[in-house]
Amino acid sequence: MKKRLQVIYKIVERCNINCTYCYYFNLDNESAYDRPIFTSLPIAKKLAISILHSVKSHKIEEVLICFHGGEPMMIKPSLFDKICEIFVKTLTDNVKLNFSIQTNGTILNTDWILLFYKYKISIGVSIDGDKVANDKFRLSKNRKSTFKIVEKNIKIFNDLYSQGICSKPSTISVINPLNNYRKIYKYLRSIGIEQMSFLLPDENYDYLKKDNSFGDKFGKPLFSLYHSWYKENNPSVEIRHVNDMFNGINQQISLSKNNNNKRLKNTIENIIMVVRSDGSLAVNDSYYPTETWYSKCPVFTLEPNAVSKFLSNKILDEIKFIERTICEECKTCNWLNLCNGGDIENRWSRTNDFDNPSIFCKSYKKYYEKVISLTTDKKQTVGNTVYKT
Ligand code: SF4
Ligand code: SF4
Repeated sequence: MKKRLQVIYKIVERCNINCTYCYYFNLDNESAYDRPIFTSLPIAKKLAISILHSVKSHKIEEVLICFHGGEPMMIKPSLFDKICEIFVKTLTDNVKLNFSIQTNGTILNTDWILLFYKYKISIGVSIDGDKVANDKFRLSKNRKSTFKIVEKNIKIFNDLYSQGICSKPSTISVINPLNNYRKIYKYLRSIGIEQMSFLLPDENYDYLKKDNSFGDKFGKPLFSLYHSWYKENNPSVEIRHVNDMFNGINQQISLSKNNNNKRLKNTIENIIMVVRSDGSLAVNDSYYPTETWYSKCPVFTLEPNAVSKFLSNKILDEIKFIERTICEECKTCNWLNLCNGGDIENRWSRTNDFDNPSIFCKSYKKYYEKVISLTTDKKQTVGNTVYKT
């Protein structure tokens, strides 16, 4: 199986805006303030060498450096250029290297555009949808809308893409059940977005004690997005949770035909490692809602073999084990192959650890039921994919 190392490099550990739902700076998490605002060239050099070491020792075939924050574009473009240069010089002869950046889309100038072109950086912009949706949470530090500038910059990215200057921007949005997702899909398509990702909120199972029905409200948004995509029927448009569902369906078909070798041959093992501005290495911080479990995960100091140590550490096996070990309710669920019990952070509770269905269980069930009933009605053709059992 091919191995890809996805390095989420937090080159800036502050943000120029203040989204109310931000798990990194709000929600009682102040650890980022203990680290430097910006990463440095010595850290980037050490990191590149340590990655090189691991490429050899762990047979990594692809490295994807994802520049994250806070807001990564708060760094000076000249420093960013040097950081990219270090990775290119250290790694390109030994491994396939790609770059991406996840930005809030509020900062853009010619220097950045030239850098996107120079390093062929894939651009992901965080925007929750149209102005109404985006203004609910994604506000400036003085509680003003950030919408206009983000929309303007996405349009610039799209113009640059049509001139062959940068990659087509993708978007990440956090789902709020109060929004209208048919409108949001339409809006994102109207500004030229083809690759969309919609995240469910960062909550664990204990949140149901505060709001018992919280996790039940997301089936409609997930299906509205699916249905909008289905109706448009444009092969260039991709939504991540729809792709994930089809992967589940395809795996099921493949297994039912005893054809799993073919499936496995195409599989890439994607290993996620977070690197903070001070160079410390840690597991994916999307596990942050698991509170005590996340706080016990090991953190590695940057040294030549730190990345290899991270890749050999038992925490990665533990994560795989947790992902595979589903609760009794999930074991007997009709949707297990599509859902896999949901993301592990949404299963975690103080009393049962990971031995729970996802907090979004009812929403997933509703979403899958509606999708399958639509496919059955339509003679088993789902959008651009033929669904046969
Ligand atoms: S843009 Fe990202 S890092 Fe900044 S406040 Fe919003 S969610 Fe947090
Ligand atoms: S979380 Fe719910 S929908 Fe998903 S597999 Fe478990 S029981 Fe089924």
